[in-house]
Amino acid sequence: MNQLLIKNGQVFWNGSFSEVDLIIDDGKIQEILFSKSDIKEDKFMQVIDASDGVILPSFIDSHVHFNDPGREEWEGFQTGSQAAAAGGISTVFDMPLNSSPSVINSSILARKKKHLENRSIIDFGLWAGITADNFDNTIELNAMKQQGIIGFKAFLSESGISDFPCIKKSQLKKGMEAVKQLNSILALHAEDNKSIIKKTSKLLGEKRTDRQAFLESRPLSAELEAIEYALGLAEETGATVHFVHVTSPKAIESLYHAKRRGVQVSVEVCPHYLLFEDKDFIEKGPILKCAPPLRDKSTIEKLWNCIKNGMVDTVGSDHSPCTYSMKTAGDNNIWKSWGGIQGVQYAFPFFINEGLRRGLSLQQILPLFTSNVAKKFLPKTKKGVIEVGYEADLTIAHFSKKNKVKKSNIFMKNKYTPYENQSLYFEITTTIVRGNIVYDKEHAISDFGYGREITTV
Ligand SMILES: [Zn+2]
Repeated sequence: MNQLLIKNGQVFWNGSFSEVDLIIDDGKIQEILFSKSDIKEDKFMQVIDASDGVILPSFIDSHVHFNDPGREEWEGFQTGSQAAAAGGISTVFDMPLNSSPSVINSSILARKKKHLENRSIIDFGLWAGITADNFDNTIELNAMKQQGIIGFKAFLSESGISDFPCIKKSQLKKGMEAVKQLNSILALHAEDNKSIIKKTSKLLGEKRTDRQAFLESRPLSAELEAIEYALGLAEETGATVHFVHVTSPKAIESLYHAKRRGVQVSVEVCPHYLLFEDKDFIEKGPILKCAPPLRDKSTIEKLWNCIKNGMVDTVGSDHSPCTYSMKTAGDNNIWKSWGGIQGVQYAFPFFINEGLRRGLSLQQILPLFTSNVAKKFLPKTKKGVIEVGYEADLTIAHFSKKNKVKKSNIFMKNKYTPYENQSLYFEITTTIVRGNIVYDKEHAISDFGYGREITTV
C-alpha cells in the first residue's frame, strides 16, 4: 500500500504550475505523474482530491520564538507548531531566546532538545546564541555547532532578555571569526545600541510615553548604521551573516551590492513590516510594537520594490508572542509593553495575498520561504521543493472568497494577533509534513512528538 495520493491539483513544480499527481510513500515524493494517468486509488492508504487548489512546497519559517521551555505561557511548541501548521508551515527554526534559559551553551541546548522531543507537530531546527558572555568561548560555540544547530543568533541592540546580553560592536568581529571558523551562519539583529540608548534616554527625560516616542527611539538610521558596520566586518572576516528583519531599503541595497561582489551576506524581511505601517502602530498600539518598529508608507513601498527586484533572500515571521496582559501593560505608556508580533499562523498567507495584489507572482514569492531557506540553512536536507526523492512537505491552498481572521480560529496560545478581523482570499486548507497531514480544514492534528528536529550535522 502506498501512503498518499494527491490528485487534481496545480502543483508548484520546477518553478511553475503543472497539473500533476503526487505519489507519496515513506514520507517522500516517490512519483510525479501527469494527471489523468491511470492510477489505481485503492492502492493508497489516503487520497486527497486537491481540485481547484494549488499544491505548494510547505513553508519553512526560519525565525520564530516559541519560548519553550521556560516561557510556555507566552507560547510553547505545542500551540506554536499547531499555529504554524495552520499557516502552511512544515518546518520552523526556533530562536535561542525567549525560551528560558537562553540557549548559550551546549548543556542548555541539550536540555532544550530533550524537552522538545514530544512537543511539536511539525519539524524544527534550533538556533543557538552568541552574546557578550560567550562570544569568545570557542569550545562551547563549537560544541553547539556539533549538536547540529541551524546557526548562531546575536543582537547588536538590547534583546530584552537578561541572560541574552547583546554583543558589543567591539566583540562582533571575534564572534564573526568564530562563526567563520565553524563554517556556520550568524543571524544578526542589527540596530545601533548607542544611538537607541541616547535617543531613548532623551525621550524619557522629556517624559514622553506616547507611541510616536517609541518610533523616534529606533529610527531607520540606527538600523542602517549597524548594518553598514557589520557588513564591513563580514567582508573583512569572510563570515556568513544573515541580517534578520531588515526594514531599511538603503541597507538592503548595500547588502545586495556586497553580495554581488562575493560577500557572504543575506537579507531577511518579515511580513509585518510590509503589511502594517507606523500609523497602524500609532492607532492600535502595543499589539503592533516590535523592534525595529513599523515604518512609514514610502519605506514600505521601497521594501516591496526590493522584493520585486530580487534583493531579498528570505522572509521569516519573527513570531514573537507574549501574554495579552504584557501587551496591554503599555496601553498608556508604550515603554511598558513587550515588543513582538504574534503572527506565525497568518504571516505567510497575508504576505502572499498582498504580494499577489501588488502584481508579484507566486513564482517570485514562494522561494523566499521555501527553497531559498532550505538551500541556505538545510543544504543536506531534502526539503523546500516538490521533486521526486524530496520529503513530502506540502501545503494545499485555495483562492477563496475573502475570509476574515476570527479569534476562534487562532491556534496560538494567546488569542490575539494584529491580523484579527483582516481579510484574505488565500486560504491554507491542508499542511502535510513528511507525507502525514498535520493540519486539515481548520483542524490541527495533535500528535505532539511527530515533529522531528532537523540538524545540520
Ligand atoms: Zn526575532
